[in-house]
Amino acid sequence: MSAIDNLPPLREVIAEHGLSAKKALGQNFLLDLNLTAKIARQAGDLAHCDVLEIGPGPGGLTRGLLSEGARRVLAVEKDARCLPALNQIAAAYPGRLEIINGDALEVDPLSHLTPPIRIAANLPYNIGTELLVRWLTPQTWPPVWESLTLMFQREVADRIVAQPGSKAYGRLAILAQWRCNARIVMSLPPNAFTPPPKVASAVVHLTALPEPRFPADPKVLSYVVATAFNQRRKMLRASLKSVSENIEDLLREAGIAPTERAEQIGLEQFCTLARLIAAERRQASKS
Ligand code: SAM
Repeated sequence: MSAIDNLPPLREVIAEHGLSAKKALGQNFLLDLNLTAKIARQAGDLAHCDVLEIGPGPGGLTRGLLSEGARRVLAVEKDARCLPALNQIAAAYPGRLEIINGDALEVDPLSHLTPPIRIAANLPYNIGTELLVRWLTPQTWPPVWESLTLMFQREVADRIVAQPGSKAYGRLAILAQWRCNARIVMSLPPNAFTPPPKVASAVVHLTALPEPRFPADPKVLSYVVATAFNQRRKMLRASLKSVSENIEDLLREAGIAPTERAEQIGLEQFCTLARLIAAERRQASKS
């Protein structure tokens, strides 16, 4: 019998600790331990990894990560009501679960972990994108983590893996795919959660590439992409007018027709354009 079998079912845990879901905290819980174990498996072989989990709630995914063999899990939960349930799990897996009661946007949990590190979470929907952007934009690359296995609303998951020419394609796709392989590995209907959210969800698995797919200065790339997609319906010669006086020439040099729109431009072309813009700026600062 594995340790997980000695813990009470999650419905009992929730009833015992009065964990009625709070909407403001994005609380849509996963209570099916077969499902949480399946999500944990999407994170790969965890036996030699420290795992960071954001928002463990009553601990469904935490139990999945531990039963699937994670070396150690660090779980950051804002809602103090969840602590007794999480402490019960920590007791069942001695030395393998550490809990921080805090706001994931304010603590720096990665510094508490020993590489190799993987991140796995059923994220609170209101801070999911912000956390992802933070993990994708560390000071240096490669990042301290090897992979991210994250539950998002389906619409956000689609934006992460989107390809040029689709409505979902934009800053998030470019940011994620520039330095990671990203794919949707599971789709979940609302009724997989308690209480069910209004929309479907999906798990995205991202693995960090050793270096970005194409060279570019992260700040320049981010600025160009943000400016281009801020007016995504406009032609690039108009939406990027503020970026350079010679934007039409730079676009052509990057192999982009100035009449094209941001959502038609692939990652490689955006990186080429960012390099040309950076070179123009360097030249301007010299003269
Ligand atoms: N992992 C659990 C599961 O799958 O059943 C709960 C997932 S629920 C979608 C999101 C969790 O994130 C909740 O437990 C909520 O209290 C927690 N949470 C919300 N905002 C947070 C924050 N800023 N920092 C840490 N945890 C947060």
